[in-house]
Amino acid sequence: MEINHLLKKGVDMIKDREYGNPVLEATMVLEDLLNVDRIYIYTHGKEQVPENTVDKFLEAMEKRAKGYPIQYIIGNKEFMGLDFHVEEGVLIPRGDTEILVEYVLKYIDENYSNKPVNVLDLGVGSGAISLAIAYYNKRATVYGVDLHEIPLKVANINKKKFRLENVQFYQGNLFEGIKELGLEGEFNIIASNPPYISKEEIETLQVEVKNYEPIKALDGGEDGLDFYRKIIPESKGYLKNNGLLIFEIGYDQGEDVKCMMGNEGFKNIQILKDLQGLDRVVYGTME
Ligand code: GLN
Repeated sequence: MEINHLLKKGVDMIKDREYGNPVLEATMVLEDLLNVDRIYIYTHGKEQVPENTVDKFLEAMEKRAKGYPIQYIIGNKEFMGLDFHVEEGVLIPRGDTEILVEYVLKYIDENYSNKPVNVLDLGVGSGAISLAIAYYNKRATVYGVDLHEIPLKVANINKKKFRLENVQFYQGNLFEGIKELGLEGEFNIIASNPPYISKEEIETLQVEVKNYEPIKALDGGEDGLDFYRKIIPESKGYLKNNGLLIFEIGYDQGEDVKCMMGNEGFKNIQILKDLQGLDRVVYGTME
C-alpha cells in the first residue's frame, strides 16, 4: 500500500477519537515505524510501505481508536525540549509540569549561582522532573525516588539517553528510598509531582488517562491530598535552612496545600498558575 493511502486509512480509523489529532497522530506513528521524518512522509506519498509495516500501523491505529495513548504507541514524549522514552507503567509527562521545572531552574540560578545544589524528586515516573533539572543545571546533584519498578527502569533508560551523571534513582516509599544515604538536612530543594487526583475525580478522567495510565501515579486518595499530607511534615527533616519545597498540584488544591505548608512552618508560600490560568504549583521555604 502507498504511504498516502495508508495514512488516509489510519486517519479514518482514529478520526472519531474524542481527544485526538488524527492526521498528526497517524503521521507520527508511520514516521516511527518507517524510521523517517515528517518531511519524508509528506514528500514520498507514492512510496510503497512494506506489508509487515502496514500490519503494524493498522494494529497501532486500532489501539489508538480505543483510546490507547499515542505516546505509548510511539514510545516517547517531548518534555523541556528532551525526548523522553515512555511506556505503559509510567505517567506521560505533561506540559504543565514544565512550570515546576522552570521555576526550580530559575530558583537555582538566582540562589545558588556557582554553588552546588542538592535536589530530591519524590515520585520520578519517566524521570521528567529529575532529568530535566539535571540536564539544564550540571551543578545540581539530583536524587530521584520511586516506589515502582517500571518507573525506575524507564527513568534509568532516559538518564542514559541524555548521558547524565548527576542524577541517581532509588527505590522506596517517598523518603524511605533515600533513608540509608544519611542525607537528612542536606537538600536545597525537594520537588514532587505526586498522585493528586481525588477518588471522585478519577472517574471523570478521559479514557486515555483512566484506562491506560498507571492509576498509582494518579490516585491521591479520598480528597487527592494524601501525598502532601505525608511529604510536607517529613520534608522538614531533609531540607537545609532556607530549603525549597515545591509541588505540582491539582487546579483546586492550591489553598489546601498552601495551608498545610503554612501549618508546618513553611514561609514565602506562593502558588504558580499554568497556561490555562489554573493553580498548578505551590512552593515555600523552610527557615
Ligand atoms: N496532571 C495529571 C492529569 O491531569 C495528574 C498527575 C498527577 O496526579 N500527579 O491527569
